[in-house]
Amino acid sequence: MLERGSGGGRPAWIGFGTPGTIDPATGILRNSNTACLNGRRLADDLSAALGVEARIANDANCFALAEAAFGAGRGRGVVFGVILGTGCGGGVVVDGRVLGGLHGIAGEWGHNPIPGERTPCYCGRRGCVETVISGPALERHYRSISGRRARLPEIVARAAAGDGAARRTMRRLRDKFAVAIAAVIDILDPDAVVIGGGVGNIALLYGDETREAVGRHVFNPVVRTAFLRPLLGDSAGVFGAAMLSASSRSAMRPGGSPRARRTR
Ligand SMILES: [Zn+2]
Repeated sequence: MLERGSGGGRPAWIGFGTPGTIDPATGILRNSNTACLNGRRLADDLSAALGVEARIANDANCFALAEAAFGAGRGRGVVFGVILGTGCGGGVVVDGRVLGGLHGIAGEWGHNPIPGERTPCYCGRRGCVETVISGPALERHYRSISGRRARLPEIVARAAAGDGAARRTMRRLRDKFAVAIAAVIDILDPDAVVIGGGVGNIALLYGDETREAVGRHVFNPVVRTAFLRPLLGDSAGVFGAAMLSASSRSAMRPGGSPRARRTR
């Protein structure tokens, strides 16, 4: 339909971003929240179904790639792109290229443990970053201390209006984000961290208080890392997926380009 609508004819390939990781050795998708796709070679399945080469990568990697090339991270050497929303993903871009990693998990900071946290995670471990500072985790925390249900934007508004439980929830976001991102900074020392997703809309993350909190955990007396709002909006992942051809080793089969299986 898109092919007809655009008038552009048959594309050379299709880029596809998805939650989860793609094993670079096998092309098999794992840990996706679309659980029925796990264990499958999604790129091959799409290629077969569509008759055109499909390349897939983690959605946070696509986001990071686009924001590094055209968005907030433009002109910076090492960009850590974060999607902090219903889940917590991340992608690393170095000089315009996605760092995929041996297992395809580079940048997956959402399942690092936060010291002292014990909430069970779907990944089988406890106290993962995602179970503490994702949107649903913050909403759960607010409910647990206030007895009231509220969506995250409402909690942010209540904090601004002086609601004590909402303010405590925002302080928790600041402090736990600081611990979590400091671990990334100590390893990767990126020039910029671009924070997408619903939680990334919260102004607190870009303020001096958060920078000071990060500074308490980073192995350096000053933190010059830029914390940036994304510039490409909801389209960042789509732009990134369209860029996979030239830039993402994680989307490639070992030893060369993905095979296209044409069915017609
Ligand atoms: Zn986990």
